[in-house]
Amino acid sequence: MQHTVDGQPLSVRLQNVQNRIRTAEILYGRIAGSVQLLAISKTVPVPLIREIAAYGQRRFGESYVQEALPKITDLHDLRLEWHFVGPLQSNKTRAVANHFDWVHSVSTAKVARRLHEQRPAGLPPLNICLQVNISHEASKSGADAADLLALAQLVTGLEHLKLRGLMAIPEPDADPIGQRERFRAVHDLYQMLQAAGFALDTLSMGMSGDLEAAIAEGSTLVRIGTALFGERS
Ligand SMILES: *Cc1c(COP(=O)(O)O)cnc(C)c1O
Repeated sequence: MQHTVDGQPLSVRLQNVQNRIRTAEILYGRIAGSVQLLAISKTVPVPLIREIAAYGQRRFGESYVQEALPKITDLHDLRLEWHFVGPLQSNKTRAVANHFDWVHSVSTAKVARRLHEQRPAGLPPLNICLQVNISHEASKSGADAADLLALAQLVTGLEHLKLRGLMAIPEPDADPIGQRERFRAVHDLYQMLQAAGFALDTLSMGMSGDLEAAIAEGSTLVRIGTALFGERS
């Protein structure tokens, strides 16, 4: 069944987002295909996820463990890649370690250690992005820049985790110059970690309203909800 969102077929909305990514890659001199699309499916019902998966979208992000688990189970036959992007409390780490492939929101040593201890031995290492809190954050979560190096060192030493990069959620800014300044600050930290010897390949930044600014500043993965699935109620 084909769904429409705000009068547009889901297939067209996906194409529009893919076109925005491609256009920004060209405009800002990024390698074609170097920016991945993570479809943020929080609050989105399973039939819409199934439809967009049928168009080739494989990576999905969820923010709430309780909501995500039944959806992941329901969609198990599709072998999708699941990313946890929401705030992560210690009491939810086991479910995340068991059911997700990636976590973008690791910002404390305690959560990192628990994810490592609780990752089932039969599964590949859990891919980790450290969430960093530059100033002007929409959420209060995220590690201080000053704590990143120690956190990266810790995660690298835990064999059931694989450090992939950084994630940030700057507060919305209507001004593209302000957006770019915030993303540039995150990219600087990413390069600082690379210069310190960490082999990172993922800079998770950019959402529906600011993906172009994020791609201009080096994002390798944009997290898109509204532009695909419409406003959340
Ligand atoms: C909801 C959410 C998004 C998607 O935001 P949109 O503005 O709807 O594209 C991206 N990242 C995180 C961490 C989110 O919680």
